Amino acid sequence: MIRLTEIRRQGSARLGMHLFYGAWELEWGVNMRIGDFTRRVMSTTADALFPSRCVQCNRDGVLLCNGCMEATARLDSKRSCRMCALPTGEATLCGRCSSDPPPVSALVATFAFDGAMRSAIHALKYDGLRAIAPMLGDEMAARWGNSRKMPDAIVPVPLHRSRLRSRGYNQAELLARPVAERIGVPLGTGLLRRVVDSPPQAAATDETERARRVRNVFEADADVEGLHVLLIDDVATTGSTINSAAQALLDAGAWGVSALVLAREL
Ligand SMILES: [Zn+2]
Ligand SMILES: [Zn+2]
Repeated sequence: MIRLTEIRRQGSARLGMHLFYGAWELEWGVNMRIGDFTRRVMSTTADALFPSRCVQCNRDGVLLCNGCMEATARLDSKRSCRMCALPTGEATLCGRCSSDPPPVSALVATFAFDGAMRSAIHALKYDGLRAIAPMLGDEMAARWGNSRKMPDAIVPVPLHRSRLRSRGYNQAELLARPVAERIGVPLGTGLLRRVVDSPPQAAATDETERARRVRNVFEADADVEGLHVLLIDDVATTGSTINSAAQALLDAGAWGVSALVLAREL
C-alpha cells in the first residue's frame, strides 16, 4: 500500500495522505465498505491537498508537464493495427486480427503505456488524483479527431460495483467525460454494466487466462440497439477487456463498437 518509490516521487504532502489512507485502511480493514459520501470527501480532499506537481518529474505547477507528455511515445494509427492498436509499421491489420478479427472494429490508442503515462494512470487510479483526468481526456479527444465517423454514444468501460465502491469513482468515466464534451457525443454511462468483478489485469499475466476471465463479464442495455458505440478506457493491455465489453454491446444489438484508450501496453 505504501510504496517507497511513490513516496519519494510525490514528496511529503502525499506521504501524509498515504499514511492517512494507510491508517484508515489498517483500522477498518481494506475490504470494509466505506460510504460513497466519505469516499468522495476523501478523494476531493486528496485532490485539494496534493500540490500541483508533475506526476513524472515533480515539476511545480502542473499535474503533467509538457516535457514529460511529449517524451511519451504517441501511437500513430497509420503505423498500427486498426483493430488492436499494436504498432505494425504500416496501416494494416496485424496477423492475429486478420486471422481472428476481434469484436471491436477499431481500437485507437493515444499513447504507449510507458513513462509519464504509466505514472499518470497510476496517479489517477490508485492515488486519487482525479484532477489529472480532464487533461488526459482532452489528449484522447484530440487523438480521436474529427475525421473519423462520429459515434452515437460514448461508453466508459464500467467497474464492478464493489470496485467502484472501494475506489469511489470510475477512472474510465472521468476520461470519457471530457472526450464526450470535446467531440460533442452523449455519454452513456448506464448502457453497460460489469456483472463480474474480474481480478485486476495485473494479476493475470497469461493471455489465454485473462481472455477466459473477462468472458461474460459485461451486460449491455437494450437501448444500445442500432448504435455505434465508442468505448473509453484508460489502458488496453491485450484488448481482452475492451473486446469483452464490445461483444456484450454487439450481443445487445449495437450496430458497431469502436474503442479509444489513453494508453496501450506494448
Ligand atoms: Zn514532468
Ligand atoms: Zn491487431
